[in-house]
Amino acid sequence: MSFADFHGNSGVVHRLREMLARHHLPQAVILAGPSGSGKYTLALMLSKAINCLSPSTTDGLPDFCGKCSNCLRITQSEDLEARFAEAVEAREALREADRKETRLFVQTHPDVLIIPPDPPQMMIKVDQVRRVIESIYFRPGEAKERVYIFTDSAFMKEAANSLLKVLEEPPEFATIFLLAENPGELLPTIRSRSMIVSLAALPAEQVEKYLAKHRPDWNAKQRALVARLSEGAVGRARSFDLASYTAARTQALTILNSALRAADHSELFKVTETYRAGAEGRDKTENLLRTLYSLLQDLAFLNSGTPELVRNTDIQAELKRLAESVDFAWIALAADRLAEVERGMRRNLLRSLSLDAFATALERG
Ligand SMILES: [Zn+2]
Repeated sequence: MSFADFHGNSGVVHRLREMLARHHLPQAVILAGPSGSGKYTLALMLSKAINCLSPSTTDGLPDFCGKCSNCLRITQSEDLEARFAEAVEAREALREADRKETRLFVQTHPDVLIIPPDPPQMMIKVDQVRRVIESIYFRPGEAKERVYIFTDSAFMKEAANSLLKVLEEPPEFATIFLLAENPGELLPTIRSRSMIVSLAALPAEQVEKYLAKHRPDWNAKQRALVARLSEGAVGRARSFDLASYTAARTQALTILNSALRAADHSELFKVTETYRAGAEGRDKTENLLRTLYSLLQDLAFLNSGTPELVRNTDIQAELKRLAESVDFAWIALAADRLAEVERGMRRNLLRSLSLDAFATALERG
């Protein structure tokens, strides 16, 4: 692994490495960009480049070896979802009194602390920032610099104010990365004390090229589909669960077809019967609703003469047939009814019932 493995945004990465070369990387950096654009990956790569024990150069700029003990330990944090799940599980195993006092962190290197949003509110809490304050003024033990990575920009108010105090006078041997889908969520005073670096989403063609290399198990049609559904985010594209998306889409199409053709509902009921209560049923239903939205949107694109925006490119022919039998009013009605199903889910109505109601409500006279 090296910076060459970072996909897209090469200009931004180049500038950051130039700053590293001149030891001018600011102590607080906001990495802004859509989910999956590589904010976390880049923060880890920069952490390695800062702390690599046998640093190299590529293209005349600082890089990291990926093999020294600092690089290796930082790399262990790469699978953030898995590390986060482990931390949640460890907390669940605590006695209730301790659980309440315990905040979530991901730490695979003693000098590199990763601060994820803390469930159930999924926000950064003041006790998490306190942990940063407790350590940041001590020189690092094994790294050259202490690194802190906040993986989300949703801060509780008190937490944001505490962070602000750190940013007013950070020690010279610490670097703080703030990852933000929407940097506007951060306090203006936090933004003004940080350098904001924006990562752009990649064009679909570039994501397709990336997938050709990293997901050879998908064919060209599948890669085109995933590239469009993940909206330019390579991270999201690479780990996209194509099997469950396609399964949900088949069922979503059955529901739409049943609504439009109306004659016989046995297929529809076969589908909706499989949606039941419980956590698993909830995920499955949410997945289905998202997929229904994406299909309705594609139908709207087709009807408005912008087929190039269609995301479900692999079933264009089928979508065109469907689009011919609906108009804008119907699509708008369907979207409204979907929102009703979502509200019903929140009230915990029997899911299959509200799905049946959704489909029958869309029938055309
Ligand atoms: Zn190294």
